[in-house]
This record gives sequence, structure tokens and C-alpha cells, in this order.
Amino acid sequence: MRTIWDVVHEQARRDPEATAAVAERRYSYRQLVRHVAGLSEVIGRRADRGSLVALDMDSPLSGAVAILAAARAGCPVLPLNRQSPQEHRRRILADARPSLVVRATAECAFEVTEPEHAPGVDDALGDVAYVLYTSGSTGAPKGVMVSHAALLDRLSGLARTPGLSAGESMVAMTSLSFDISMAEMLLPLTVGARLLVAPADARLDPDVFVDFLDTHAPDVVQATPSFWRLVTTGTWNGAAGSRIWCGGEALTPALARQLAPVCKELWNLYGPTEATIWATAALIGVDDPITLGSPLPDTFACLDTEGQGDPDEGEILLYGAGLAKGYLRRSQLTSERFCHRRTPHGRTLVYRTGDRARRHADGSLVFLGRDDGQIKLHGHRIELGEIESALEEHPEVSQAVALLCDSERPDRASITAFVVAERTSEAEVKEWLRDRLPPSHTPTRVAVLAALPRTAAGKVDRMALAGQEIVS
Ligand code: AMP
Repeated sequence: MRTIWDVVHEQARRDPEATAAVAERRYSYRQLVRHVAGLSEVIGRRADRGSLVALDMDSPLSGAVAILAAARAGCPVLPLNRQSPQEHRRRILADARPSLVVRATAECAFEVTEPEHAPGVDDALGDVAYVLYTSGSTGAPKGVMVSHAALLDRLSGLARTPGLSAGESMVAMTSLSFDISMAEMLLPLTVGARLLVAPADARLDPDVFVDFLDTHAPDVVQATPSFWRLVTTGTWNGAAGSRIWCGGEALTPALARQLAPVCKELWNLYGPTEATIWATAALIGVDDPITLGSPLPDTFACLDTEGQGDPDEGEILLYGAGLAKGYLRRSQLTSERFCHRRTPHGRTLVYRTGDRARRHADGSLVFLGRDDGQIKLHGHRIELGEIESALEEHPEVSQAVALLCDSERPDRASITAFVVAERTSEAEVKEWLRDRLPPSHTPTRVAVLAALPRTAAGKVDRMALAGQEIVS
């Protein structure tokens, strides 16, 4: 089995003195490979091949070294969300049951420990590169398993479209627990390019980010629309030499109009974790309509229009190379989302994205939104059901509903929760949630009610709740 380590190692052999990364200092490919080999020996001594290795670190360079080291030792990685509270991390660790936890104590310096839980043995992990947890609608986050084959296919597709070549640079700054960080950490190393590691506070402070862009003039810089919105509200003059990869949530025409004129190329990238980083890409010109564009090489997208009444509107189905293997130890959920469907290429395995789209005459897809409780808030994928489950675990709460408010105005969007409870307060419920959910999932407001409004059919009247929110 060919792994990400094999590809990067071959690249390092071809041009060992080329710059692989610029972080606190510069690293050549030769130096990078030496760090990888050192950590890999430690992992290999302490874990069997195919065992899951949790990564608990912020630095994308340390992340890249740890992923490659684990791959060299035959182990998949589980990047942990460093912003999550203890209880949330404990649940994920208890579900995934990794054999080792690797922490970065400094750039490219590591500490390897054994976790509290007994490791889980799983044959399904043999060909897996990484497992990433995403929000789960029933309360428990689910681990998406991505194979080396899917990862390599996606990275080689991204190298062609939107494109990255030897000698170029790409910014790495996204947290390891978002799958788009895999493109930042690994894509440059597969093509002989270099990863430019942004300072840790660049993720939070647009001024630091802008300074970093001005100093390094990267060829590619990738971030979510939410992040670009923060950057464009400041005194940014643009990045004329950079190609911007914008994705993870809907790109609005207003943001595209701001970004397209001040960069070399603006790309709208779309894709769920389950289809490995990105699945489609559209080059967006200054006055272009916003579409999701076309599938990346070796990937296909079609619409499930059955029962829709409109042959050009439906759920996006993704298929071809680049699909994840499914969810770790969740065979039922896997077979619900990864299933066989009729496609223009015959009946084949697809991933049902849950995203709705409309097909334009030129074949490109226009994103319409979702029908379920999955939302994107400031770039984070969140199942409202996960928040509701956490709220309903509170001993005083008998029922909870979480809603995304102001979704039309992404800069002001926030979550409001409505709970039925007698002896508790907004402050107390929020405090209780703080220990159980990552900050990205925490509602801005919690309304404590005696009862929830109902529709004539007896269901919770979400429209009425949303209306209450607007009035208050
Ligand atoms: P994640 O698994 O965190 O990458 O989230 C995937 C979901 O984010 C998709 O299923 C879409 O709902 C949404 N998404 C990602 N990229 C885009 C985009 N360019 N436009 C609209 N929605 C997007």
C-alpha cells in the first residue's frame, strides 16, 4: 500500500535540499525527513501497525511531521480538537480508543504517551491515513475514516486543480481537526512546494495574518469565507500575487466581489470531510455567479433528483476516488450515507452529502443549502442535534431546541437554544455546556421556557421560536 509518507519521501529524495517548510526556522526536505524518521521509530516501537495515534498539537509543521511519522510506522492518525473541553475530548478518545497520544512540546519536538482507555483493535484501520471527528446529529461525534488511497488521489487532484507546483508556497494555519488542514500540511510536500506556517495568532487576529501575507507573498492561501470576511473588514490591500482557496461554507457574492479583484485567482472550493478535503472547485471571476464548479480530477458529482419534481434540483451525490471509507465503528450510519445509487456512470457507491444544489445549463452546481440540522457557523460544521443532546443531558432540562439565527447575514449569525426547564437559568445552562461542547458549538443565547410552542401537527414550532428570537 502506497502511503502519504512514500510520496513525500520520494519527493525528498528527488530534491533533498529544497525548502520543505518555513516555520520558526527553515526546514529542507532532508531535515524534515529526519524529524519524521525520529518520531516514526518511537511510534513503531510502542504501537502495532494499524493502531490509531492521536495527535494533540497546534503547529501545522509538527502536525505534518507527526502524520508522516505515523504513516511510516503504518499507523493512522486522529487529530484532536485542541479547543474542545475535557469532557468532549474524553468522549472522542473513549470512542476512537487510540493506542498512543503524540503531543508537540516545541516545534518538531514530541512527547508520546499512552491514553487512559485500553486501545481498540480495528482491522478497518489498516489502510487508513486519518480519522477525523465531525459533529453527530444524535449527540455523539462520528469519526470519518480516510484511506491513504483517497488522500493521495485527492492531493494529486488538487495539485492539478486549483493547482500547486514545485517551488511554490502554500500557507498552513488551519487547526489539525479540520480536514482542510490536510491540504495545507501535506499537498506542498507531495509536489516539492513549501509550507509556510503562519504564526499561531494569525488564525485569530486578521492584522497578524495580513502582516504575514505581506511578508511572505504566498502562492496559495486557503481559508473559510468567515475568515476572509474578517480579513476584508480591516485595512487589507489584498494579495495580488496569491491564489485564494475559499471554502468550507457558502461563498457569498458580496465576499467574492471583495476578494476577486485583489488576488490572482479566487477559487470556491466545496466538499465534506467524507469526500476527503475538497470535492469540487470553481474559479470565480469578478462578476461571475457563485457556483460550486466542477468535480476535482477522478471525482464525480451528480444530483439525486428522485421525487423532486424538478430534474435539475436535488441532493448532491459524490462518487469516484476520494470517498472516505465510512465512519469508525458505525456500520449502520456508514451504510446510510455511503450507499449505491444510479448515476450517469451506472449504479455505483456514492456519498450522500445532504447538500442541495441546482444544476445550471453549463453543468455547474449552485449550492442551495441543507434540509437537515447540520449548519456551518464561522466555518465550523455543527449538528444542531449535538447541541440539543448535550442540553437534554442537563438534569433540569426536559427538552431542547437549537436554532441558527441570522443565517442570511453570516457575520452576525449565531446559535440560540430554547430549553424547557423549571429550576435553572441561562447562565447556569451555558456554564454547564461550556464543559461539554467546543466553544464553536456553544449557543450565544439560551432561553429557558416553561413549554415549547407546537404546530397544529404537534411538532415543535421552529418558525415560531425563530420569530421569538427576532422579536427579543
Ligand atoms: P466539512 O465536513 O466540515 O468540510 O463540512 C462540509 C459541509 O460544508 C458541506 O457538506 C457543505 O454543507 C458545506 N460546504 C463546504 N464547502 C462549501 C462551499 N464552498 N459552499 C457551500 N457550502 C459548503
